[in-house]
Amino acid sequence: MSTNFRVGIGFDFHRLSSGRRLVLGGVVIPFEFGLEGHSDADVVLHAVTDAILGAAGLEDIGTHFPDDDPAYENISSLVLLAKILEMIQARGFQIGNVDLTVMAEKPRLQPYIENIKATLSRALELDSSRIGLKATTMEKSGPIGRGEGIAAQAVVLLVGEDITP
Ligand code: MG
Repeated sequence: MSTNFRVGIGFDFHRLSSGRRLVLGGVVIPFEFGLEGHSDADVVLHAVTDAILGAAGLEDIGTHFPDDDPAYENISSLVLLAKILEMIQARGFQIGNVDLTVMAEKPRLQPYIENIKATLSRALELDSSRIGLKATTMEKSGPIGRGEGIAAQAVVLLVGEDITP
C-alpha cells in the first residue's frame, strides 16, 4: 500500500486591542492586550487549522466557521481545530508533523513555548516531538513590530489515504 503525503500552509494575523484576552495555541497569556476577532482570535490555532485544511485540499477556516455566525462568537479555537481534525481523520488522514512560527513584538513568548506545545500536542493528538514552535519579533518594524497585532505561520504534513467517497 502506498502512503500519501500532503503538505499544507497556513497564515493568520489579528490586531491587538485592550479588553481582550490573549490566547495563543490554546494557552491564555497574561498581557495588557488581546487579539481582536469573532472567535478567541487565536492566530496560532487558526494558522494550524488552515494548514491542515490546505493539506487536505479543503476550504479555509473562514468558510467552515463564518465570522458572522453567532455560533462561533468568542468560541475557543480548540473547538474549531477539533472539528477539523475529526473531519480529516474521517477522510483517512493523520498529522505527520507541524511546524509553526509566531510573530509578536510583545509579550515575550519563550516562557510559554512548552505549555503551548503541550496544548497543541493534546489538541492535535500528536507527540510533542512532532511539533515545532518558534517565536520571533519583527525587530520593531511594520505593524507587528509596532505591536499592532500578532501573526502566525504553520506548515502541516498529512499522512494517509484520501478515502473521501
Ligand atoms: Mg483568524
